[in-house]
Amino acid sequence: MAIFRFKALELVQSRKPLEVTLPSTKVSEFYGSNVFGKNAMKEYLSDEAYESVMGAIEKGTNIDRKVADQVASAMKAWATSKGATHYTHWFQPLTGTTAEKHDAFFEPLEGGGAIEKFSGSQLVQQEPDASSFPNGGIRNTFEARGYTAWDPTSPAFIIAKELCIPTVFISYTGEALDYKTPLLKALSVIDKAASEVCQYFDKNVTKVISTLGWEQEYFLVDEALFQARPDLLMTGRSVFGHIPAKGQQLEDHYFGSIPDRVTAYMREFEIESLKLGIPVKTRHNEVAPNQFECAPIFEEANLAVDHNQLLMDLMHKIAIKHNFRVLLHEKPFAGVNGSGKHNNWSLSTNTGKNLLSPGKTPKNNLQFLTFFVNTIKAVHDNADLLRASIASAGNEHRLGANEAPPSIVSIFIGSHLTSVLEELEKKVKNGKLSPDEKTDLKLNIIGKIPEILLDNTDRNRTSPFAFTGNKFEFRAVGSSANCSSAMTTINTIVANQLIIFKKSVDELIAKGINKDEAILQILRGYIVDSKRILFEGNGYGEEWVKEAAKRGLSNIKSAPRALEAFVSKQTMEMFERLHILSHVEQEARFEIYQETYTKKIQIESRIIGDLAQNHIIPIALKYQNTLIENAKGLKEMFAAAEFKKYSAVQLRLIAEISDHISVIQDSVDKMIEARKKANKIEDAKKRAYAYADNVKPFFDTIRYNVDKLELLVDDEMWPLPKYRELLYTK
Ligand code: ADP
Ligand code: MG
Repeated sequence: MAIFRFKALELVQSRKPLEVTLPSTKVSEFYGSNVFGKNAMKEYLSDEAYESVMGAIEKGTNIDRKVADQVASAMKAWATSKGATHYTHWFQPLTGTTAEKHDAFFEPLEGGGAIEKFSGSQLVQQEPDASSFPNGGIRNTFEARGYTAWDPTSPAFIIAKELCIPTVFISYTGEALDYKTPLLKALSVIDKAASEVCQYFDKNVTKVISTLGWEQEYFLVDEALFQARPDLLMTGRSVFGHIPAKGQQLEDHYFGSIPDRVTAYMREFEIESLKLGIPVKTRHNEVAPNQFECAPIFEEANLAVDHNQLLMDLMHKIAIKHNFRVLLHEKPFAGVNGSGKHNNWSLSTNTGKNLLSPGKTPKNNLQFLTFFVNTIKAVHDNADLLRASIASAGNEHRLGANEAPPSIVSIFIGSHLTSVLEELEKKVKNGKLSPDEKTDLKLNIIGKIPEILLDNTDRNRTSPFAFTGNKFEFRAVGSSANCSSAMTTINTIVANQLIIFKKSVDELIAKGINKDEAILQILRGYIVDSKRILFEGNGYGEEWVKEAAKRGLSNIKSAPRALEAFVSKQTMEMFERLHILSHVEQEARFEIYQETYTKKIQIESRIIGDLAQNHIIPIALKYQNTLIENAKGLKEMFAAAEFKKYSAVQLRLIAEISDHISVIQDSVDKMIEARKKANKIEDAKKRAYAYADNVKPFFDTIRYNVDKLELLVDDEMWPLPKYRELLYTK
């Protein structure tokens, strides 16, 4: 029997890197060429229409129908000049991918012929059939109408022959069905809340934007090997596979040279990204073999999220061209580093100031401290929600395993800022400060903050939420996630916190306390309240798990349980009050996330059962038969005493194989029973719990025994490409 695994390995050996030519050696000559951005708009729009679109982008003003018609016709002219024939509303449903519905520009004319047409109403709103997207029971299936509506803050772009228009996706009754809608609302709420707090320091601030710089980690596997692993094909992760002799213990991969085939692939998706205005800048190897990272320069959060979604799409499409498959799963290989998507987050003003970057003057530093401490307080008070925002079946495999942040939310701020906060706590008093005390505070604490900028060596890579000099880095986000969930959450909780802060400070000011003192007093209270979440040690260690428990910090390992924080009283109240998501929307989302979890575990469970039963057990039996034949032959040849001596190994192997097979078969049977039971549960939450508690635990037992068989069975017979082949073949 020809084993596909060996054919695949042969194919891999014959691969050559593809030739990829840069459109120009100067990136500036093609950067953004496929985007209907400012330059294209200036060229194709009247001044009036251009101003109107810019107003919508910068101030959130409405675009009227007449202008929308103009914009549509300009977009069409621009797009057709670039060879586009279709347009599509591009949106981000809660499936986690992006969705499109394509329509041609042409419209037939009466009496024959056709014209190219694209009107304002087609630009502004579309009605895709929404029945197949998850909606958590908001829309009855017979009422399958959902609307997509143009988001002018993210520019239209061309992929292949399609003009893609970024849109939000809402139900007929007005509820959000996507990731973008609540994100846009959160961004508007943080803008308002942060701008108001900025008034304490700088009256020129009229707008605050949230910035996001993501770092996308991924694995590459050769197409042929991927096809030979039904588990990778169906779930994006390998459900079996013994750790290779050489794992990542040598750490020789990190920043090592990138293989030519991979470089060609990276170059091509970078070129396509740059044409789409995605400012990809760095690429390097990651910790594990065949793992890589791509990071752009940070952008306004909504744009950065769209760009990440686009990039993930491009990565998939272009990988296939290069005979690769890209794995965006959080944990494609057990025992090997997983993949995350660090979300670097900050706030930036229209005056060009990064609010999380300490400045040169004491006033700037107090502003920095204000945003810094409020962020800590927000994370402290909403740690469970932040944990929920990154909960998924994939990330559940990653968090807390092999060099990944644990499920405990903590914040790393570095030793300098730790001592600044300690000093503040000691020196700020309730009530008025003496002139000496004020000078001391100004000179010795606030005045010293900029020094932290000079020392950037203070880094801790084990923290899920780390301050890195001028931004916070949320490292627990999963590699396949839509960043919106994390970004909506961070911006909402910080906005909420800033609103509370402003109210408290204003109350003190009204009592006659000087503004700076009022700010310091409130901040001091926050430091006291939230310092238990600050942690500078090793977040990967067992010690921290114990210490965190002592501090009363949550450590929610199970994804479906982590999701609970989305519907806690506290979250529901905050999201509703700030108009991010209503109770109904929040509950619908909760249900969708639970269902997605269930489906993912269900698919994994099916593929585990199928592979074990149809691939692994038959091969193990076959190999066992050769051992039995061998033993029989020996028995014929030798007298009893010699037979005993010469067949000892074979007999032991035969028994071992039988032992593993029986555990595997027994576990598969029980797992199927557990699945059947779970499937009968009506309630989405309880069903997800049943999958997590009663189905998933079999995965480890089955895997352990299959991986043992991998070590016992003749390599020539083993059907699945092994870890060393998936991770090391180039
Ligand atoms: P690493 O975490 O791998 O050491 P870097 O520190 O180089 O990598 O990561 C920097 C990331 O942070 C980049 O994606 C960068 O664009 C982003 N970044 C830098 N400044 C900001 C900011 N003000 N807001 C958001 N993201 C930022
Ligand atoms: Mg990082």
